[in-house]
Amino acid sequence: MPYRAPVRDLAFLLDHVVGMDRVTGTDLYAEIAGDVTQAILTEAAHLCEGVLAPLQRVGDTHPAVLENGVVRTSPGFGEGYRAIARGGWVGMSAGPEFGGMGLPMALATAVNEMMSSACVSLQLNPLMTQGQIEALEHHASPAIKAVYLPKLISGEWCGTMNLTEPQAGSDVGALRAKAVANGDGTYAITGQKIYISWGDNDFTENVCHLVLARLPDGVPGTKGISLFLVPKLIPGADGNLGQRNALSVISLEHKMGLHGSPTAVMQYDGATGWLIGAEHGGMAAMFTMMNNARLGVGVQGIGVAEGAYQHALAFALARKQGKSIHGYSIAAHADVRRMLITMKADTQAARGIALMCAVAIDMAHATGAPEWQARAALLTPLAKAFGTDVGNEVAHMGVQVHGGMGFIEETGAAQYSRDVRVTAIYEGTNGIQAMDLVARKMADGGDAAFALLDEVQALSETARGALPDLAQPVWNAAETLRETTEWLVEQGMDDRFAGAVPYLRGFARVLGAYVHLKSAVAGDAPRRALAAFYIQRLLPEHIGLLAQARAGADGVYALSLDDLVA
Ligand SMILES: Cc1cc2nc3c(=O)[nH]c(=O)nc-3n(C[C@H](O)[C@H](O)[C@H](O)COP(=O)(O)OP(=O)(O)OC[C@H]3O[C@@H](n4cnc5c(N)ncnc54)[C@H](O)[C@@H]3O)c2cc1C
Repeated sequence: MPYRAPVRDLAFLLDHVVGMDRVTGTDLYAEIAGDVTQAILTEAAHLCEGVLAPLQRVGDTHPAVLENGVVRTSPGFGEGYRAIARGGWVGMSAGPEFGGMGLPMALATAVNEMMSSACVSLQLNPLMTQGQIEALEHHASPAIKAVYLPKLISGEWCGTMNLTEPQAGSDVGALRAKAVANGDGTYAITGQKIYISWGDNDFTENVCHLVLARLPDGVPGTKGISLFLVPKLIPGADGNLGQRNALSVISLEHKMGLHGSPTAVMQYDGATGWLIGAEHGGMAAMFTMMNNARLGVGVQGIGVAEGAYQHALAFALARKQGKSIHGYSIAAHADVRRMLITMKADTQAARGIALMCAVAIDMAHATGAPEWQARAALLTPLAKAFGTDVGNEVAHMGVQVHGGMGFIEETGAAQYSRDVRVTAIYEGTNGIQAMDLVARKMADGGDAAFALLDEVQALSETARGALPDLAQPVWNAAETLRETTEWLVEQGMDDRFAGAVPYLRGFARVLGAYVHLKSAVAGDAPRRALAAFYIQRLLPEHIGLLAQARAGADGVYALSLDDLVA
């Protein structure tokens, strides 16, 4: 079964669950009425189903290669990319001033999900550019904006993000790349960056790298880092491309999956760069890009989950094995049905959380209200980690649904699992996301979390009359999460960190229940049945998770490193 974009589900969540009407009720997004939303989703669905989905296997079987210093991309990727750019999807959420569509993040998130289902390795390219556009919109000088934004938004040029070095992964502050002022307003950038997604390609005119590096007076750690824009070809003020910059792709990584995306080791040898934001203010500027990319990566996980679900469902409907009173395919067997519904229910829960996050970003942008900013900040690590965990679990289950054929590459089931694996690792591992949630995002004493839980419980109370069997467990789960959060914010960092991952997962379980309960209230019988499945069978996981979250650090450190190696 070829990929079919879940336009109906996305539109339902936007309209009935995550509060898109609040976004379109603001002055900034007043023009995005219901018919615009439908038109955007339908148009993007055509692109994803017809043009991008056929590239998925090609990228896997014909990876990008490095030939004499030039990256050659997978067959058809150039045409696919140009179709994305022609449709305006690279700059869909960028401001209209430089040619962007000015769409709210909620709609861009829906489109990004569809593109990720269709071909995640190609979609990673415009995802990086979208983050770069946002960083430049917020932090670049007017002159840089005028030259770069129109080209990035149109997709003629693309963008990358260069943080990682061999000794500086999760610990970005350990980076060694250097920047020295040239005296003419530019800087010379020297150093090596590893794992750079789409470090080069053969289908855009230029590749613009955002590079973190340290100025000579930069203090050690993250506070001494600055951000530089370093183009492959140096443009003039008119945007025309000039000489080649002193940077190169040294090699491409051989990876477990995501083969269509060239992951490069980049060398900068005194390359010319332009400062973005303030000197030593690089992390703040880069965080604009990273927060955008974190939601985007969560959505990659959800997109892959949807693709893997559809793939497994088609197989299960066609494969006959054994007899059941419920039908003739393996989809009729209780355990296969359980797996398929789990895949669908979890994908929908993660999708709802990602769209809630996107709506919070839009509301923060449109209103400037601190409550929306706090909510967007709180939901970002949840959307990233839960979206990518669900992507991994659903793809893994998809292999299981296929039986032996899941282990055979030709069916394509394994590719979803291999491709999505990295989403739980890059853009800050899911462990780092959880630490962000329990530390930085709880620096308000838990206020943003409690405000969200108030909404979950208010919905449960409203739904109690019509759907008591669904509403009460959700209210109870929110209460357990509230108590755990109250405990958490009183603890030191060691105890918080030891329980961070189960806490994040338990939190997401409760929010997923909120998404499903709201769907059940507004939806038809199948949506209520899906909600009941989630609330009765998946939500209870939160009890064990939140108990683990409260267990503290002692148990984690009770076994010494010597005990572990003994
Ligand atoms: C395919 C691919 C594409 C990538 N694309 C890009 C890109 O475009 N640009 C870019 O800059 N980078 C990119 N990366 C790098 C990616 O962001 C890093 O791999 C990631 O941040 C983890 O860093 P690391 O690999 O050094 O792992 P490490 O930091 O060594 O982490 C190893 C393990 O230790 C844990 N850990 C580390 N520190 C802590 C801590 N303080 N507390 C608790 N646990 C901790 C981690 O969670 C992880 O489980 C990419 C990586 C891959 C594989």
